[in-house]
Amino acid sequence: MNKRPRFLLRVLCTAIFFVSTIHWLLRPIPAAQTAAPKYIFLFLADGGGIPHMEITRQYNRLIHNEGLVITDKIIKEGTLGLMTTHAADTLSTDSAAAATAMASGCKANVGALGICADGTVPKTVMELAKQQGRRIGFVTTATVYDASPAAFVSHVRNRRDYAAIVDGYLRFEPEVLFGGGRDQFLAHDEPGSRRKDGRNIIQAFRDKGYGYAATKEHLAQLKGRKALGLFTLEDMSFEIDRDDKVEPSLSDMTRAAIRVLEEDASRGFILFIENENIDTAGHFNDVAAMIRDYREFDRAVGLAYDFYRRYPGEALIIVTADHETGGLGFVQALKDLSSTGAKNRLAATAEDLKKLQSIRISLRKAAAILGTHPTEASVDRLMAEHFKGFVLAPEYKQAILKRQLLSRTNYIDPVTVALGLMVANNTQAYWLTTAHTNQPTMVAALGVGAELFRGYLDNADFGKTLKALLEGKQTP
Ligand SMILES: [Zn+2]
Repeated sequence: MNKRPRFLLRVLCTAIFFVSTIHWLLRPIPAAQTAAPKYIFLFLADGGGIPHMEITRQYNRLIHNEGLVITDKIIKEGTLGLMTTHAADTLSTDSAAAATAMASGCKANVGALGICADGTVPKTVMELAKQQGRRIGFVTTATVYDASPAAFVSHVRNRRDYAAIVDGYLRFEPEVLFGGGRDQFLAHDEPGSRRKDGRNIIQAFRDKGYGYAATKEHLAQLKGRKALGLFTLEDMSFEIDRDDKVEPSLSDMTRAAIRVLEEDASRGFILFIENENIDTAGHFNDVAAMIRDYREFDRAVGLAYDFYRRYPGEALIIVTADHETGGLGFVQALKDLSSTGAKNRLAATAEDLKKLQSIRISLRKAAAILGTHPTEASVDRLMAEHFKGFVLAPEYKQAILKRQLLSRTNYIDPVTVALGLMVANNTQAYWLTTAHTNQPTMVAALGVGAELFRGYLDNADFGKTLKALLEGKQTP
């Protein structure tokens, strides 16, 4: 070939190269797609704010020389977000509005389940997952008809419409439903039943092919593709009070739920796991009970982490909370009210964690021991038997005897409030309130799609993002 055609060929090749490069650069970008995780674990520490987690982390480290799976594995290997939790109509939320936002992606008013503030009825994450053929599980230490799990399957104006919520589960047929709340499932002639229409809902589940467990032993033996477990009439026990021979722990239930869901997981699953007792302990200003339940919550997260290590390219773990309960924190407090001077101030140390370890019953149980008419002798006996070395200030003793409230923000029960203040005086772990606060909660995520929950997000955006992720989209 002579020089000129060779030169023209080179020019032509260069031109084709540039045109195709520019064409590639200017191509329309399709909506970002990501593979949806096949296995999803959604952990909810109900009422478990960042202070709850941090106190438990310090307790684990200083008392048991153990880590915390959530901080040491999920956050360190995954992503971290902060989530705002307010309801549509109030600045501090209830569990119903918060769970509705997280389950459906819309803001809701307090008290409403699965209904947006504008009156629309949204599709929940679980309804979407069901349509996709995924298997669905719910594990909670609350009654299964309590607001947080219920917002994922129910659409009712009043979160206390328990029979309607239970009927909703029966229609929805989650493959796993474990928790408390047998009272709304038993036929009305059975002891403990609160079911008014006479139906036996446990039998109705059995008729649909469910295995049923009522004790820890039954749970361990459960076989089959669908399982109902109702271990108490109402809420399950605080971890600190639980009878380990009879009642399963949150991690016992989580282990069994994974086993049932894995029976036939070809199209994946989504498993909701909640520890309601973290919230309940907050309502009772009971830091010793809260720590035991947060530790148990973390053990359940550890089971999901082990699962994730088996399926690292297919699983997503999210650990979050619907709101903070109690305004909890270790603080520097006055030893007594005699002086504000530096010598009369005290900050928490590891010794205070040891004192918390020495408490072996919940404040709710302590109040039950005192009964409705506590006497000076019965209060002294309670202190000697269950709070050795703790000092009960005279004003709190009087509050117990007279059942007198001590503040506008701590009001659930005068006796547990006074006992909570006694524990605070002796350990520097104080509570601002017996109600929910507006503190943002954390969203820790690890696995497929975890990065979508990074940063600062609202709980409604959390729900939208989770639904989008199920559909393989990166943005709602
Ligand atoms: Zn609560």
